[in-house]
Amino acid sequence: MKKLFIVGNWKMNLTLDEAKILANKLRHGMANLNNVVDVGVCPSFIYLRDIYEILQDSRIYIGAQNMYLEKSGAFTGEVSGAMLKDIGCTHVIIGHSERRTIFQETNSMINSKIKTALSYELNPILCVGEKLDERESGKTEAVVGLQLSEGLNGLTSEQVRRLTIAYEPVWAIGTGKTATPKQANEVHSFIRKTVENRYGDDVAQSIRIQYGGSVNSRNAKELLSQSGIDGALVGGASLDSESFLEIVSDAAKLSYT
Ligand code: PEP
Repeated sequence: MKKLFIVGNWKMNLTLDEAKILANKLRHGMANLNNVVDVGVCPSFIYLRDIYEILQDSRIYIGAQNMYLEKSGAFTGEVSGAMLKDIGCTHVIIGHSERRTIFQETNSMINSKIKTALSYELNPILCVGEKLDERESGKTEAVVGLQLSEGLNGLTSEQVRRLTIAYEPVWAIGTGKTATPKQANEVHSFIRKTVENRYGDDVAQSIRIQYGGSVNSRNAKELLSQSGIDGALVGGASLDSESFLEIVSDAAKLSYT
């Protein structure tokens, strides 16, 4: 079994003090867990350095929630991959549905961001997922398939190995509705098959596919028990140390089975 990977996406939440308190609680809460699960947090850009300082000698990875596709230059208000690497990030979420819908990010922009992130040795967490009307009209595989084929365009097998893919049905994000474990597992199998068709079985088996969408301490165990689910991208429940640590602890227990 793969090591499960649990990531908290703090989105545009928390004051600096709240973020530091949360990071300290996670650090202490993780101290008793053996190294059986990978864990990361993605705070706001402007807190990254502070959180890095709290977590640097812990086993918790630091990721950003986004980055710009160009390497440097006149892009007022943007943050580059080099800057993220420089302040200690190891991961970056790319193509979150909020970026796709609110900020009009296209698959082609997401593809460029992945390539730029990889050039700085950042590990991308690529988010894919369908909207409610797309699911209801039977287009889930077509939508997710296109997000994958365009998002991964031009990447080598070695590059794809560095990715985590997060399947996040848009209708389940922040809504309290989760995909059923069966629904999630079906799409995870489709994603792995798509990667396998393009990059071979070895790459498909080596990448981790997280589920995201209203994961919490009550539903995590069942979702994470599914054979094709290798972790979770957690929004709301990652803002509460107890909930997040319970999810991590469920993941750790499953890693032993
Ligand atoms: C997310 O932000 O990626 C997410 C899944 O949010 P939530 O857990 O709040 O649905």
